[in-house]
Amino acid sequence: MNFEEKRKRLVENLKSRDILTKPNVIKAMLNVPRHKFVPKDAESSAYLDSPLSIGLGQTISAPHMNAMMCEFLDLKEGDKVLEIGTGSGYHAALCAELVAPKNTKNPGHVYTIERHEKLAHNAKMSLKETGYEYDVTVIHGDGTLGFPKEAPYDKILVTAASPTKIPLPLRDQLVDGGILCIPAGSKSFSQNLYVIQKSGDTFDSTKITGVRFVPLIGKYGFES
Ligand code: SAM
Repeated sequence: MNFEEKRKRLVENLKSRDILTKPNVIKAMLNVPRHKFVPKDAESSAYLDSPLSIGLGQTISAPHMNAMMCEFLDLKEGDKVLEIGTGSGYHAALCAELVAPKNTKNPGHVYTIERHEKLAHNAKMSLKETGYEYDVTVIHGDGTLGFPKEAPYDKILVTAASPTKIPLPLRDQLVDGGILCIPAGSKSFSQNLYVIQKSGDTFDSTKITGVRFVPLIGKYGFES
C-alpha cells in the first residue's frame, strides 16, 4: 500500500470513530503528507494512529489528537494562528491547510514556536519540502511567552502540557471571541485537554478528555 492509500485509510478510521467530522479538517488530513514530517526510519509507521519519536525526547502527536484539536479550534480561512510546540511541523501544516487553502482570496497565517533549535530547523525544512513555507512562520524560542509581535491571534494551540490552563502572556494575545486549545495538568502525563473561549475578560473553559503530552518547558511552563 502506498502512502496516499495509507493516509486515506487513516482518515476513514478517524471518521468512523467520529473524531474527524468537519469537511475542511478531513480535506486537510488527506492533503498533508505526514510521512514527510517523521524521521526516515519511521516513515512506514507515519499513518498509524500513534505518536512517534522525532528526537530530543520529543514526539509528533497521534493523528487523532491533531484532528481533535483542529476540529475544536474551528479553524477558518483567514485565521491568524499561534502554535506553541512546533515539534515536527505537521500540525502547523494542517493548520495552514485550514486557514490558507490553495486559491483563497483571504489567506490566514500560522506562527509556530519551538524551544529546540534543531527541531525548529527540521520543521522548517519539512514545511519547505511540502510547500507550506509561505503560510507558516517557524520561530525558535520560549512559546510560553507567546509571540507578541504578531498578536492578537484568532486561535492558539498549545501542543505540550502546561501547568496552568492559560499561561499568562497568552491571555492578551488571543482576540475577543478567540479560542485556545491546551493540555494542562501535571508534568508526568496526567493531563486534560481544554478548549477555552475568550469573551471580553471572561475565559470559558471546557474539559474535553484525558491526554498525555510532553511538558511545556519555559518561563510560564514547567522548569526543565
Ligand atoms: N505539534 C507538534 C507536531 O505536529 O509534531 C508536536 C509537538 S510535541 C508533542 C511538543 C513540542 O513542544 C516539543 O517539540 C517540545 O520541544 C515543544 N515545547 C515544549 N515547551 C516549549 C516551549 N516553551 N516553547 C516552544 N516549544 C516547546
